[in-house]
Amino acid sequence: MGASRLVEGGPCRNILAVAVDPSTLRIVNYPAPILRQQAERIEKITSETQAVAMGMLALMHEAAGIGLAAPQVGLPWRLFVANPTGDPEDDQIFINPELVAPSRELVDQEEGCLSLPDVRAVIRRPLAVTIRALNFDGQPFEFTSDELPARIWQHEYDHLEGILILQRMSAIDRMANRRAIRGLEAEYRV
Ligand code: ZN
Repeated sequence: MGASRLVEGGPCRNILAVAVDPSTLRIVNYPAPILRQQAERIEKITSETQAVAMGMLALMHEAAGIGLAAPQVGLPWRLFVANPTGDPEDDQIFINPELVAPSRELVDQEEGCLSLPDVRAVIRRPLAVTIRALNFDGQPFEFTSDELPARIWQHEYDHLEGILILQRMSAIDRMANRRAIRGLEAEYRV
């Protein structure tokens, strides 16, 4: 069960002045405090929201990632983007997402995170989950997956709750990644 394409129609091209300039968006690394904050619901989808989502997709592709959440670009918004294949046609935008009906079956899978360069850890999560969200145009949709999309949704949803894989990894993985984690902490202080 893979997720089918979620973005209907093309991106909004006639974006006027926006308060958040999407061209200035950058991926923030751990331990930026915003990554530990709970994000807030988006009450109204505006051209600004859409421009930010498009900017996040561009940043995600640039970094060869498969998912990116708004807190990772410094915005406390309940919004994330994903692309399980890397094909631009599979770009997906999730606004105010909710995860429901996680499977009882749990699986271990290695994950990375664009805000934690060089950190990899095996994370145990439900195999399958259903996601409900609003799309780029504010229309509600629902998908269920028991493949890579389910993994991405759960990782990105965690970001909206201020949870990083650091909080979910085993003590052994934390030890294995100690050098990378300390390096990020040292860089942040500079
Ligand atoms: Zn992440």
